[in-house]
Amino acid sequence: MRVMKFGGTSVGKPERMYSIANLITSDDESKIVVLSALSGTTNSLTEISASLSKGDRAGAKKQIDALELHYQNFIINLVKSEEAYNKAKAIVAEHFEFLNIILKISYSDALNKDILAQGELLSSKLFSIYLHEQNIAHEWLPALDFMAIDALEEPQIGAIKVKLAQLLQRYKNKTLFVTQGYICRNAKGEVDNLKRGGSDYSASLIAAAVDASVCEIWTDIDGMHNNDPRVVSNTKPVEQLSFEEAAELAYFGAKILHPASIWPAQTYNIPVKLLNTLQPDAKGTLIIGDAGSVGVKAVAAKDNITAIKIKSSRMLLAYGFMRKIFEVFEKYRTSIDMITTSEVAVSVTIDNDTYLKKIIKELEVFGTVETDNNQTIVSIVGNEITATEDVMKKIFQTISPIPVRMVSYGGSRHNISLLISGEDKEKALQLLNKGLFDME
Ligand code: ADP
Ligand code: ASP
Ligand code: MG
Repeated sequence: MRVMKFGGTSVGKPERMYSIANLITSDDESKIVVLSALSGTTNSLTEISASLSKGDRAGAKKQIDALELHYQNFIINLVKSEEAYNKAKAIVAEHFEFLNIILKISYSDALNKDILAQGELLSSKLFSIYLHEQNIAHEWLPALDFMAIDALEEPQIGAIKVKLAQLLQRYKNKTLFVTQGYICRNAKGEVDNLKRGGSDYSASLIAAAVDASVCEIWTDIDGMHNNDPRVVSNTKPVEQLSFEEAAELAYFGAKILHPASIWPAQTYNIPVKLLNTLQPDAKGTLIIGDAGSVGVKAVAAKDNITAIKIKSSRMLLAYGFMRKIFEVFEKYRTSIDMITTSEVAVSVTIDNDTYLKKIIKELEVFGTVETDNNQTIVSIVGNEITATEDVMKKIFQTISPIPVRMVSYGGSRHNISLLISGEDKEKALQLLNKGLFDME
């Protein structure tokens, strides 16, 4: 069984859907196809939700109507026969009727999740109608029947495995399945999601659950590039990454993969391939247990980081001090990305400042607390890079014009991270492109 996930741009136009129909029927291997929402849809649904949360019903209605028009135009070009068109029209009408009903209900977090789920439901249903029109035998699988997260928002891989197996058992004679990425049910049984970009995570969880031969992530670029292509103009794809390297890059800002999407594939040792729908023959990136080569492979950057410094001449040397600090972050379920210590201070970084005020208040019991927002973590990732000669020298020589606030070295053998001001990010990535890869 092969898992093939197609992102927003890969389903965003009728022509793209035609291309992926070709890709998923190119051989006889059984497949589960995981689809994202059409590009732009989840953003639009987020805006609709934001309007509703502010009580701006008129604004939400306008946004819903604009999105509906987009889908009405989409289906005109998607299918040819009247029968298929009528089916597609009914699906669009059903989902937009739902959104229009929601306009009348008072806003809640659960309602927000219901709104956000419409994108993947629409894309997968419309694609299924197209496949049907093309006489391509397949089954549409409701992700809400098997994709589950627990009260801590962690996927329940055991339950997913059992439920998905039961579902597939029902269609023993089928070899092609189409399902939704991103959406799931939470511990209360409500509709929920795996956070933005979560379809990659769905694909990896599904691949783990069915012990797939490969998890293919089809997107709009030919694999994981050695630097952020949104910031640096001259970048190139990396041929092979280990699971650890890919996880570090995803976690530290390489948007091509959801930050948590590697662990299920790694745990069940399923190769992940990053491939380009617009260029299906390009090699892309292979992610497996073996890193393939030694040395620096890629640079990524994670924005909107807050640095927190706790200064305490009295307490820092005392044992148990670190535990007390960490307990504050644990209490507010806020994870720490980087940490450095000196004799009188400890600095940490967080990427989620929802509870920042409360955290600061509790930390002030231990000493003076200073915070800096709009920081960026730049991560240099590769195999055994901390053991590679001259890496540190090259990095520091290269970025010498930029002030570095924190350095993390040795936490893993695959990552060296630097904390810099968000304003210096672009320059840092460009300088590192020259210094580490000799590319300008
Ligand atoms: P999809 O909708 O298919 O999930 P995404 O937009 O989530 O696609 O991810 C693909 C995008 O990730 C690329 O278009 C690219 O701009 C961005 N990206 C950021 N860093 C990298 C990187 N290191 N390598 C490749 N793409 C990257
Ligand atoms: N549609 C969702 C998003 O835009 C999930 C995904 O595309 O992976 O975040
Ligand atoms: Mg994505």
